[in-house]
Amino acid sequence: MEIINLRQRMISVAREIRREGNRTIGFVPTMGALHAGHLSLVHGARAKCDVVVVSVFVNPAQFGPREDFAAYPRDLTRDSALLAECNVDYVFAPAVEEIYPKNFSTYVTVEGLSEGLEGASRPGHFRGVTTVVALLLNIIRPDFAFFGQKDAQQAIVIKQMVRDLAFDSGVFVLPTARAESGLALSSRNDYLDEKERRAATVLYRSLSGAAAEYDKGERKVARLIEGVKSRVDAEPLARLDYVSINDAETLEQLDRIEDRPALISLAVFIGKTRLIDNIVLGKTEKQDAAGAIA
Ligand code: AMP
Repeated sequence: MEIINLRQRMISVAREIRREGNRTIGFVPTMGALHAGHLSLVHGARAKCDVVVVSVFVNPAQFGPREDFAAYPRDLTRDSALLAECNVDYVFAPAVEEIYPKNFSTYVTVEGLSEGLEGASRPGHFRGVTTVVALLLNIIRPDFAFFGQKDAQQAIVIKQMVRDLAFDSGVFVLPTARAESGLALSSRNDYLDEKERRAATVLYRSLSGAAAEYDKGERKVARLIEGVKSRVDAEPLARLDYVSINDAETLEQLDRIEDRPALISLAVFIGKTRLIDNIVLGKTEKQDAAGAIA
């Protein structure tokens, strides 16, 4: 496994692999502080592709001024050891100036899809995400890129960007990896103390509650939302940022869940830590098992 820090080296390594013509490149973008959720994407890439590239880059452009960019956990030594165990071929771990040199001035924005949910709570967040993912896709030019359903809106926004700007990469979205408690794995769980970690299970508990009501036949969005709110309210360490039910593909706001899959997503502060989670209600399984779109 080679750790690459320079953009130019990453470009030439990927170009050389493409030139050989017989090996596919799978790419997994991450911000490091790796956990089993990231590694499930790496395994997905390993299973599908001949060469696996994982980026580890804490992207300043996707953090708001009052967010946790400085505090975000960083441990490239640990991350590299985990990636080596997964038979990753290349780790791309550039410094900030490698990605954003001094005169950097071009940003990618996906209109509409970026504006609600996380985009509304975190202005500028998706502009940072789409800009860095566009750059990484251009540097690596992978055959396939792998993202997690944990960040459902991010996956939808990226699929739109890939379609709109004709990136020559297929996008796979893989399921959310969870702890036994149901808590979605997240690098930000590192911020939680033991009590908070228990309280944080309220995200999945409240989503599962909505799924149970849906299974019993409830289709009114207001009712399902009310249930989630009351479950979050019952947890003293939790403060709801938002909960929303949207069409799982278009993110259109819904009043009733009809015959299309609906995404129920929420963001909750547990103490000072902001966590997100989501589930899809009424999934049709029309996606193939791995969720490919291209
Ligand atoms: P991050 O390092 O948080 O930027 O995440 C990198 C990638 O891993 C993104 O595509 C995330 O959606 C994905 N990811 C993060 N947590 C999980 C999880 N618990 N299960 C599956 N994928 C995840």
